[in-house]
Amino acid sequence: MEYRAPRGTRDILPPESEGWDIILSKLTVRAEEYGYKKVIFPTFEHTELFKRGIGEDTDIVQKEMYTFQDRKGRWLTLRPEGTASLARLFVEKGIDKFNGVSKYYYFGSMFRYERPQSGRYREFYHFGVEALGSDSPYLDVELISLCKDTVESFAIKDYLIYINSIGCSECRSQYILKLGGLLKQVIAYYCEDCRRRVTTNTLRVLDCKIDKHRNAELPILSDNLCPSCSQHYDEVKKGLQTLNINWQENPNLVRGLDYYNRTVFELVTPYLGESTSILGGGRYDQLISCLGGKETPGVGFALGFDRLYQVVYSNNPDFLNSPRKGVYISSPETGLWDKVFRITFDLRNRGLKAECNYQNRSLKSQVKTADKDNYEFFLTIFQKDMVLKNLTTGEEKVYENEEEEKVLVLLSGKGDMS
Ligand SMILES: [Zn+2]
Ligand SMILES: [Zn+2]
Repeated sequence: MEYRAPRGTRDILPPESEGWDIILSKLTVRAEEYGYKKVIFPTFEHTELFKRGIGEDTDIVQKEMYTFQDRKGRWLTLRPEGTASLARLFVEKGIDKFNGVSKYYYFGSMFRYERPQSGRYREFYHFGVEALGSDSPYLDVELISLCKDTVESFAIKDYLIYINSIGCSECRSQYILKLGGLLKQVIAYYCEDCRRRVTTNTLRVLDCKIDKHRNAELPILSDNLCPSCSQHYDEVKKGLQTLNINWQENPNLVRGLDYYNRTVFELVTPYLGESTSILGGGRYDQLISCLGGKETPGVGFALGFDRLYQVVYSNNPDFLNSPRKGVYISSPETGLWDKVFRITFDLRNRGLKAECNYQNRSLKSQVKTADKDNYEFFLTIFQKDMVLKNLTTGEEKVYENEEEEKVLVLLSGKGDMS
């Protein structure tokens, strides 16, 4: 049998894996500057959590979850997104009993059974940020601002922030009634998915890509909000203005998950000629109580890490180029291996990246390897002396054996090449 990674999964190798670290550390630093703290939660949860949290009628729960029974017959599901797990831990740990705003971020792989296509995987990665404990519209603004700061910290200038309000359960259900009535007369012309959704998840008809053109005449949700939702939405826009954040209202933005209410938002950027959503989020004021916790409003977003990487990379492939670092040590003469080995470990103990050759290859091919692997120096040990070469400048200098300590001090960054 030929072993291959399962369809829709992939391996991340250097230099891409190094690029991931660069991106992740920027995201983390930014989120922490905003006061968010890291949480880690399980990769799988009880299936019921996602059914209840995300909603039975959503695409995720209907067609995309990796669900299985364990040996004791429990139904478990690989997490398709992070917010439901975060809400579960929030209730389970009793954090809902404290009055305060709790701010968390998380990073990890998510699983959805979707048709793999370029940039979309069945195991993919989310960086998520969630704030619980306040329904202030300014908290929504804070999250949108964090989204903007995040993409700008990667020098992505070409992007759009879409916002919408999908109201509360009251004004939304009245709107859905109205919308359902209007759609009934024309639904025969819509795609198969829409014909099914019109009764189970009416709002989703609005973000169907196939039937986009048919929806132009329909009334929009944000014009049908109750007074308090309408005021909330106005304040979100006011807050965005205060922070000089540009946005565009998108009445068709409804998001595919049941837990959202009021503000929803999305950030899109053109990637390979197409407008690509790299993150999306919104408010979820009922999710915590729906999972049995004390009523606690929340708002958050999830960023598609795989997409962000592709956008950052296509925008500036040079971001992967890191400066040369460390030293490669070798000897072309027999009998000096012990010294090579000892110096390598001595340098590592001094905090320097150091490598030696375990393969008996020619000196020339080792220099090539060191150059390719981005080492800054190449140190050649001879019986009578040693030669240190700077691989950036090509400069070489010979040192006597008695000067070994001087060379080690130099290499570990505490001296000059003199
Ligand atoms: Zn409302
Ligand atoms: Zn459709």
